[in-house]
Amino acid sequence: MATTTTTTLRNYVGGEWVRPSATEYLDITNPATGEQLGQVPLSTPSDVDQAVAAAQHAFLTWREVPPVVRARYLFAFKALLEEHFDEVSETVTRENGKILSESRGSVRRGIENVEHACGIPTLMMGRTLEDVAAGIDCEYIRQPLGVFAGVTPFNFPAMVPLWFWPYAIATGNTFILKPSEQVPFSPTRMIELAHQAGIPPGVLNLVHGGKDAVNALLAHPGIAGISFVGSSPVAQHVYREAAQHGKRVQALGGAKNHIVVMPDADLGRSVDNVTESIFGCAGQRCLAGSVVVAAGKAYEPFRDGLLNAASNLTLGNGMDEGVTMGPVVSQRHKEKVLSYVDAGEADGAKLLLDGRGRTVDRYPEGHFVGPTVFDGVEPDMTIGQEEIFGPVASVTNVRDLDEAVEMIQRSGFANATSIFTTSGRAAREFRYRVGVSMIGVNIGVAAPMAFFPFGGTKGSFFGDLKAHGSDSIEFFTDKKVVISRW
Ligand code: NAD
Repeated sequence: MATTTTTTLRNYVGGEWVRPSATEYLDITNPATGEQLGQVPLSTPSDVDQAVAAAQHAFLTWREVPPVVRARYLFAFKALLEEHFDEVSETVTRENGKILSESRGSVRRGIENVEHACGIPTLMMGRTLEDVAAGIDCEYIRQPLGVFAGVTPFNFPAMVPLWFWPYAIATGNTFILKPSEQVPFSPTRMIELAHQAGIPPGVLNLVHGGKDAVNALLAHPGIAGISFVGSSPVAQHVYREAAQHGKRVQALGGAKNHIVVMPDADLGRSVDNVTESIFGCAGQRCLAGSVVVAAGKAYEPFRDGLLNAASNLTLGNGMDEGVTMGPVVSQRHKEKVLSYVDAGEADGAKLLLDGRGRTVDRYPEGHFVGPTVFDGVEPDMTIGQEEIFGPVASVTNVRDLDEAVEMIQRSGFANATSIFTTSGRAAREFRYRVGVSMIGVNIGVAAPMAFFPFGGTKGSFFGDLKAHGSDSIEFFTDKKVVISRW
């Protein structure tokens, strides 16, 4: 049954590790060292059929397991995650490149979702009203819907799958995970732990692959709903296709997050926070700051502080002590990020710190991009509009809060934004007026925890019910209304 100990991964279907019918396999390498980690299969629609059949079969009995018993499997899984916390975190760093402390933080955020889903007997309760008419009572009960599927991105290989499947199975559904083909090892390891926790065969399934597997899931008549996290063009495609096939969909997309710095902000603290927001995880976070909008007198000192802090980051292998920024995930992604740096220059932004051509002596095969800082970035420049998803800061200055809010409102994305200020009035104005869903006040990475909803609006989110929090229970259940007269 071992998968991560062998180099060629398998699917997990009906409680067994099965060799898919796929003929194509992708090589997976460590983005810092270039070391080959193994191969992942690109599953076919027939592999998806097999997983759906197993999940449909398991649903018949799983939905009858009392919620309190379903929660016990998650308690057991959570205990195993704690036991294997370091190992899973290291796997994240090895396949994704982020530094170990970042991986540990992400695994912890993932575990919090398991903990939250353990409360399912309470979370899943319905409501009742007696005497809706004389002698007539009305209640709604929450019921599972069948088989759900989750499609996840490369940047949080352990955490993002845990935004979905613990809630889906806790509510009595069965689930198929299709993780990013770029980082398949940590999600696989967690499914191994779920297997060890005794989650019954077919309740949780894993299908590796790329877009063919995703498209087969979107069109499959046996699937009730799809949870997706990834780039906006794919999120929009998933939303359209899955909806056209009559499914529930929650599709979280990309971002272009603005950080407003007011003249009254605590300069030192805000520079530290913003630096971490922009360059943490090498900028590969949907909550990463991208455009710094400095108001009035904040502009020059903040820009200089950010430049100084960015210049002091230590690039390297995220497993090594003292490293503060890892590589980006792949050579292809590195080229994409560098093309944005070229575009910024071509559009006339002023390059204050150039991360192109940066190498790390010990790791000549690593996909490193050095911290990069642009000044004078305008909203109509490519780097002012598009998601770069790399360690590139764009600084711009505005007169005041009104101009800052106006700039943010012009963006096609609306995932997260932050304000740094010591004025309660400015903070309130900002959160009241800005049309973005996740807001930080003196917080650079405004990440909602498991018991709050996670997701954006506009081009950053397609759907209505967001990830985790109470939205998750809504998404994974039908509210059945029963009206009774005796
Ligand atoms: P991606 O869109 O390339 O891939 C995401 C998933 O979709 C993968 O599992 C992949 O196999 C699949 N996929 C890719 N192309 C497809 C296609 N044409 N048809 C069907 N399926 C396809 O995203 P990524 O590069 O892995 O992840 C980075 C993106 O995810 C960034 O845009 C980032 O902002 C976003 N993200 C958003 C959030 C959020 O909460 N909104 C969280 C994390 C990441």
